[in-house]
Parts: sequence; C-alpha cells; structure tokens
Amino acid sequence: MERYLRLEKLGEGTYATVYKGKRISTGTIVALKEITLDPDEGAPSTAIREISLMKELNHNNIVRLHDVIHTETRLLLVFEYMDLDLKKYMDLHGQNGALQPTVCCSLMYQLLLGLAYCHHHRVLHRDLKPQNLLINSRGELKLGDFGLARAFGIPVNTYSNEVVTLWYRAPDVLLGSRNYTTTIDIWSAGCVMAEMYTGRPLFPGATNEDQLQRVFRALGTPNELTWPGVSALPSWREDFPFYAARPLAQLLPPMANDGYALDLLARLLQYQPDRRISAEEALTHPYFNSLHQSAAAQQS
Ligand code: ADP
Ligand code: MG
Repeated sequence: MERYLRLEKLGEGTYATVYKGKRISTGTIVALKEITLDPDEGAPSTAIREISLMKELNHNNIVRLHDVIHTETRLLLVFEYMDLDLKKYMDLHGQNGALQPTVCCSLMYQLLLGLAYCHHHRVLHRDLKPQNLLINSRGELKLGDFGLARAFGIPVNTYSNEVVTLWYRAPDVLLGSRNYTTTIDIWSAGCVMAEMYTGRPLFPGATNEDQLQRVFRALGTPNELTWPGVSALPSWREDFPFYAARPLAQLLPPMANDGYALDLLARLLQYQPDRRISAEEALTHPYFNSLHQSAAAQQS
C-alpha cells in the first residue's frame, strides 16, 4: 500500500477533512481526504462501490482520484492536488469576489466540459458549488468532491461543522422531488455562473422555505402554466406568495450588457428540469464563441 505523509489542513467540508499530503515513495504532492467512519458501522459497502466508480472518471476537468484506502476506522481518498477552490479564488482574485467576464467564460466552459463528461457517464455531481470546484495555478478548473453525495446521500447534516448550503439546490429538489437527474447539476451551474460575475451567491437562502422564496422573488413564482406539474410536487403549497419574474439583466448588473451570457444563464436556470439546457449543448452556446476565437488566435 502506498504511504502518505500528512501535511497542513486544506479544508473541511461536508463529509471530510482534507489535508495536503505527500506520497512518500515519490514525493508527489496530493490532497488527502479523510473520512472518519463510525467504528460500529464502518463504511457502507454502497459508498465504497460508488467511490470506486469515481476512479474510472478520467477527464481533465475532474479532480483525479488516485487511490482509495479503506481501514476499519477511516476512508482515505487520495486526490490530485489543486491550489484553490473557486470560492477562495474569487476572494483572492476577484474585485469584491467578482471575476472578469473573460475569466468567468473560461471557468464556465471548463465546468461544463467536466459536467458533460460526468453526465455522459451517468454520474451526477449533486453538490456543485464554488467550494467544490477546484482551480490550479494553470487556471484549470476541475470538479471536485464527487460521488460522496451519491455514496452517502444528499447531505442533510454534516460530519464536520460546515452547514450544508441550499444555495445551489434546484427548485424541483427544494419542492421535494426525488427524481434526481443531470438537470439538478445544471441548475447549480447556473447559480455558480451568476456568482462568478457578481462575487455574491445568487440565492443565499437560510432555510428550505427562504431558499424557495428567494428563487421565486427573482424568477417569478411558478405555476401550472409556467411549470406543468409543479403543484403535484410534495412540498408545493397553494399559498406560496406570488411574485412576478424579474429580468435577469436587472438582477445581475455585471452581466447586463452581455446578451449571450444572459441567454445561457436563462437556459441553465429553467424551472422545468427537462427544459434546462444540457451540459453538452451548453458547450456549443455562442457565449463561448469569443473563447474559441481567442484560442484560435493564440494558435495561429
Ligand atoms: P467535503 O466532502 O467534506 O465537502 P471537499 O472535497 O469539498 O470535502 O473538500 C473540502 C475543501 O478542501 C474544499 O472546499 C477545498 O478547499 C479543499 N480541497 C478539496 N480537495 C482538494 C484538492 N484536491 N486539492 C486542494 N484542495 C482541496
Ligand atoms: Mg465539499
């Protein structure tokens, strides 16, 4: 078994503590994610199976899982080392957290590339948010914190003290739908896109109820006309307050003069899950044309 030296703590998340580490045999720097297990229960076999599946995900925009070490008391996941998560990156490089439009575009493209690959392999992320998107010094963005949500369920309470955030959760999930599909990640991607432009979370709700209300206040309270089937969802209430939809350009001034950005965002943040654009289709959106043009210019 490979041996690792544990260095400083990098972060504490929903399920685990992450340390910088070093593979003793080669000196390679890695990230070590430690999950302490209930000594009576050990690791659920389904969790182990799901995590092992993650080893098969091999893409430049997904944080590479090198190794899974499983002992009685803990699970150690060995990942490729990344410099920062997107949250810290925005705090460090943004203007009050807000990133330059060209940076938003590049990061969004990479996010969607990673997501399209996962969705193609029938893997949902389920917990996309800036803290779970990792960036290295080459400006590469990779999806991290994969599979645990699937292995252990949508986080409701946490092993660490971090409060599970609802901010990126799709309205269908907030309304009690258990029909999870790739579309839940697309909603989260939309929330992340807006946040990169403004430096602030788009829908920072405090409770399930408050979360829904914030979405409704911005995008309008849905109804059977705008979202057929919504009133049949488990947590739908007839007495939800009525709000009219507001234009995205008004909600997001930094995006207001970029029609393509607004158009893509609107397609990501569709109420009806099956009307949300897929990651694969989003990659062909004209919003990314300027990215392809500058890449072509660099090559010529
Ligand atoms: P959790 O499931 O507990 O949320 P994460 O995988 O999201 O765990 O890790 C928690 C934090 O640790 C991340 O938000 C990030 O700041 C840091 N981190 C995670 N993976 C890496 C990595 N591969 N390289 C560098 N930092 C990482
Ligand atoms: Mg996390």
